[in-house]
Amino acid sequence: MGFVFVVHKGRVEAWHQNRTAFGTFSFEDFYRWHLQIMNELFAASKFPSAPDGIKAKVRLDRIVYVDDDVQEAVRKLTGPDGIRYDQGMWVWFDDQDRKGRWEPPTKEWRNRTEWSLPHELGHQLGLTDWYALDYEGDEDHLMPDNGDRIAHFMTHPITMMHWHGPHLFSEADAGYLNMTWDKPRGYYGDHYFAIPRECFLRIVDVNGSGVPKAKVEIFQRGVQVDENGKPGEDLGVRYFPVIEDGNFDRPVSKRPVIVGFTDEEGIIRLPNRPVKEVRTVNGFHRRPNPFGNTDVVGGRGLMLVKVTKYDRPCYFWLEIYQFVVAWFRGKRDRFTITLKTPYRSQDSPLPPRNVRVIAIGENHAKVMWDPPPIRHERQYLERAIGFRVYRRISSDGLNDRPWFPIATVGPEVREVTVDLRQFPGDIYWYSKVNRFAVSSIGELGVESELVEVISPFKIR
Ligand SMILES: [Zn+2]
Repeated sequence: MGFVFVVHKGRVEAWHQNRTAFGTFSFEDFYRWHLQIMNELFAASKFPSAPDGIKAKVRLDRIVYVDDDVQEAVRKLTGPDGIRYDQGMWVWFDDQDRKGRWEPPTKEWRNRTEWSLPHELGHQLGLTDWYALDYEGDEDHLMPDNGDRIAHFMTHPITMMHWHGPHLFSEADAGYLNMTWDKPRGYYGDHYFAIPRECFLRIVDVNGSGVPKAKVEIFQRGVQVDENGKPGEDLGVRYFPVIEDGNFDRPVSKRPVIVGFTDEEGIIRLPNRPVKEVRTVNGFHRRPNPFGNTDVVGGRGLMLVKVTKYDRPCYFWLEIYQFVVAWFRGKRDRFTITLKTPYRSQDSPLPPRNVRVIAIGENHAKVMWDPPPIRHERQYLERAIGFRVYRRISSDGLNDRPWFPIATVGPEVREVTVDLRQFPGDIYWYSKVNRFAVSSIGELGVESELVEVISPFKIR
């Protein structure tokens, strides 16, 4: 896939004054080297659905050296029919061009890699910004225990189209480029239409068993529910029409777009909401799907799932990225996402009581609890053979930053000291709030529900 670079001669000459990280005194070499880096990252972006990496290769087709007005030169690259036939371009234009005076790049600049360039050229190939799926939350959806906004950070942020840096392109990007490298360019984000035909959520409890008859409400970013619209129903699950005014920039909807209940196995089928159909030459087709009329920037590609059972709401995020990757992995007909709640099973032992946490110095905390009451001395299902202590950092969704176990102890133990400095090196972006929880463990390792407590003291 070829690119055109457009640059003023004055800038090129200024670059000729110094040796760059590439090793020559050349603007052209430095920026062609960035395409080599892009090709190396393409080849290294190997995934279950792209075992050979990204097949596409990029090359520098043409450099347009401009004598005077850069913007005028760019305009001339559009044909009389309004189409740009080069299908991928990068333009150097800033204040130096306006003033007609060009400085050599700084020592720092010319001696490093310009990681923004492979990212930006990714857009020229139709790839989207995955950081559009980050979300700091809003006032309509708050954590029940501390009032934090329920936030979300894109599921695989250390990727080229989320963050600039020496990162691989994501699996969805690999799938998109492997499907489109031999097609005409000019589309953007049409892989957001690649959603399996039938999508299911499987809500499970702390032991991995389905949660029957849980209420599932799904809210969507970028939409507002049309209160005058007529709700629809798809296999027993209701959905609500949204206002289609072209504004995808809204926070997560106050009202749900989807409401239903899980079946006996804890499964709910997401309704395929009606859409305005779109087909692209790349082979993508927007048809009825759980996200409805998805936009190609990502606004509507994020939905908040509120699961309620035992008067205890749990929050999860559905990200369009997961659906698109499933589609590229061949799950075109049927795709299920499992969401793990901290709820009990029918066979669970009784939960611990009075869970609390205190600070021990700067770097430690003590989590304490009382054992469950003895209700029926000989009832084997109620008996605890041990306890498990958990920790969770941030107020992101439960599937983003889940509970992680930090200790398993015997039935006589009533406290565990936690080294607060030891935790997964995950990305804690919007909030670093700490929660702890304790469960009882019964026979066969069956656990009780998690009894939660929020850290009353600040943890760095
Ligand atoms: Zn970008």
